[in-house]
Amino acid sequence: MVVVMQPRAVVVGGSLAGLRAAEALRRGGHDGPLTVVGAERHRPYDRPPLSKQVLTGKIEPGQAELHIEAGFEAEWLLGVTATGLDLVGRRVKLGGGDDLPYDRLVIATGAHPRLLPMAPAGPGVHYLRTIDDATSLRDDLAGAQRVVVIGAGFIGLEVAASAHQRGLEVSVLEALPVPLERAIGAEMGEALARWHRAHGVDVRVGVGVEAIEGSGRPEGVRLSDGTVVPADVVVVGVGVSPTTAWLEKSGVDLDNGVLCDQRLSALSGGRPIPGVVAAGDVACWAHPGYGKRVRVEHWTNAAEQAEAAAHSLIQGDASTPYGPTPYFWSDQHGVKLQFVGQTNPGDEVMMIEGGFDDSRFVAAYGRRGRLVAALGMRRPARIMALQKLIDEGAPFPPVE
Ligand SMILES: Cc1cc2nc3c(=O)[nH]c(=O)nc-3n(C[C@H](O)[C@H](O)[C@H](O)COP(=O)(O)OP(=O)(O)OC[C@H]3O[C@@H](n4cnc5c(N)ncnc54)[C@H](O)[C@@H]3O)c2cc1C
Repeated sequence: MVVVMQPRAVVVGGSLAGLRAAEALRRGGHDGPLTVVGAERHRPYDRPPLSKQVLTGKIEPGQAELHIEAGFEAEWLLGVTATGLDLVGRRVKLGGGDDLPYDRLVIATGAHPRLLPMAPAGPGVHYLRTIDDATSLRDDLAGAQRVVVIGAGFIGLEVAASAHQRGLEVSVLEALPVPLERAIGAEMGEALARWHRAHGVDVRVGVGVEAIEGSGRPEGVRLSDGTVVPADVVVVGVGVSPTTAWLEKSGVDLDNGVLCDQRLSALSGGRPIPGVVAAGDVACWAHPGYGKRVRVEHWTNAAEQAEAAAHSLIQGDASTPYGPTPYFWSDQHGVKLQFVGQTNPGDEVMMIEGGFDDSRFVAAYGRRGRLVAALGMRRPARIMALQKLIDEGAPFPPVE
């Protein structure tokens, strides 16, 4: 009698990309054992509400749980950290000394906040990535009057807007001259800073932060020119790093994340590793449309890339290379901002509808006569239409 062994799948990272990859593996016909390993104790949950509805008190942290497909079955190892990977023996090493054999492996360990050495997390000083971080920040804001946010990235600006919505006085301190320049370009980044100021948030750019003052809890943040900005809560949002420390000795190629080919196979020595893919914030893959490696730190990519990675595991070279037009949204001061495409320094930017003053607009970005990106506020249908034009290689300015 011939016994056919079912392939065993392991997904490391029990959050958005991990869950979506695991579900897609099952849908794609993976009938063998499937184990999801997640360092957090919580069932998979959504991070976007953490800086918005959770902080404003609109929802309880527990309401951020992600929906899991009906009938989905897996072994969940939650509160368990993967500590290493043996590519030759095909085993994931776990904290505590156990290991898990695999035939198919999804790496979906996401990203974690970059730390500012002069602002270690502690009473009154917060970083925001997890549901536990959000709960503790929300509770701290309840007794606060003045909040200083260090870093005017998306998380920083969302936290600032949420704290302002709660009636707190908020300052945002940004070291660069323009917030979000890499994501939305200098012109729109400057306009966004002005828009926040018009809403009552004190946004200061080009400022160096020296120290947090106060004993036990913060009383203020000292800038390099000696000014002290009063604060009883400080939130640090200076970006994230891909979570790859557990892979450092594995032989997996790492450079700003897990390096992957166009089908999301993780690489070792520049070659695809059979049966190993990566997805979500941790994956730095060869985007077929952009002709370079990119790593995206946004929700829609994590969900879609996870699905593509699972297809790649099951179908191999028959799967489609993964080359989406990136998309993200952000909610600030009660309105939705959306961005599609990708902008580089030097791109042309044209307001094609409305303006920041109306809190309703659409801006298009062009490069060498082609439409490459669009930013919109409260114009979701138009942004989706522009995304289609970007996909089609439409000219700039766009003719809709
Ligand atoms: C506060 C906040 C607000 C956001 N808002 C938006 C938004 O409005 N729009 C948008 O587009 N995007 C937003 N994002 C980004 C979006 O949430 C991320 O892109 C998405 O969560 C990435 O999913 P992921 O599964 O790749 O990584 P993660 O969500 O980081 O999940 C990775 C998981 O892997 C676990 N893990 C790490 N290492 C190990 C290990 N060694 N062993 C086991 N488990 C491990 C981690 O604990 C974590 O649970 C937001 C993010 C945050 C933090």
